[in-house]
Amino acid sequence: RAHATAWQAPRAWAGAHLPERAADAHKYSAGRVFAVVGSRTFTGAAVLSTAAAYRSGAGAVVAAVPEPAAPIVDARNAEVMVDAQPATGAGTLARIAREAVLDRAEAADAVLVGCGLGRDDDTLALVRDLVEAVEAPLVLDADGLAAYADDADVLRQRSGPLVLTPHLGELRRLLNDDSFDPIDRIEAVRGLAQRWHATLVFKGVPTVVGTPDGRVLIGPPGEPALATAGTGDTLAGTLVGLLAQGLDPDVAALCALWLGAEAARLWTADHGATGLVASDLIDRLPAAAHALR
Ligand code: AMP
Ligand code: MG
Repeated sequence: RAHATAWQAPRAWAGAHLPERAADAHKYSAGRVFAVVGSRTFTGAAVLSTAAAYRSGAGAVVAAVPEPAAPIVDARNAEVMVDAQPATGAGTLARIAREAVLDRAEAADAVLVGCGLGRDDDTLALVRDLVEAVEAPLVLDADGLAAYADDADVLRQRSGPLVLTPHLGELRRLLNDDSFDPIDRIEAVRGLAQRWHATLVFKGVPTVVGTPDGRVLIGPPGEPALATAGTGDTLAGTLVGLLAQGLDPDVAALCALWLGAEAARLWTADHGATGLVASDLIDRLPAAAHALR
């Protein structure tokens, strides 16, 4: 191929593509998100990702959470409808929740799987069931990606839209290659997104997004405030919220990245570039959308 290129999505482009809420909207028409997230050890990832889905404009967010984590997620996030499901001995979601979880997924406009799930084998088997069966656009993040550690190529068998959001370590695990470190991140992302038939959001500075049809889009420039735990969960929640509002996967990914960058910029203007925590970012997502529009 002669010089294939990547496109840097400008701030104004993101602003023009953000979803608008109709005057006659109700909570179910505004975007229904279903999240399969959290475990006894990782309750915060469930709280942050579902909160970010609401703050990106979704109308209703339901979360399937293993029973030991459910009261905690519920108490820390009043608006999320928490559906407590059976847990493994490790306090992670058990595969016997399969039917209940698939029913919930069927009622959603977009589904998030992975934030804080843990890596119990039984849980990762459930992740594979979901990726295979759910028709709605699905975001696979964090521990959800560990379900494909040794055979990511089966991801291409999924029929519905798929968005993968790995950082370098998670991408290495998907490729089963601890030393993977591409010099040309653009061409690496282009090839993998086509190979997996997925929208691949390779997180970094900048984040690079590949599409199943071989396009590559580049996210906003660095925002140092974002270098803190929980901003990945925030991105995943924002992204699934935008998918539930009807954006195409590549547009949703770029808009989610720009919302996060703008929210970080707003916080930095008041506080400087250090000390942000992910909940600060989530609180500023609506103002960020307003500023971008
Ligand atoms: P995770 O590693 O899953 O928590 O995700 C961290 C998120 O923060 C990713 O979306 C990164 O791209 C983003 N991030 C971290 N540091 C920076 C930075 N300096 N500039 C822009 N984005 C960043
Ligand atoms: Mg993460």
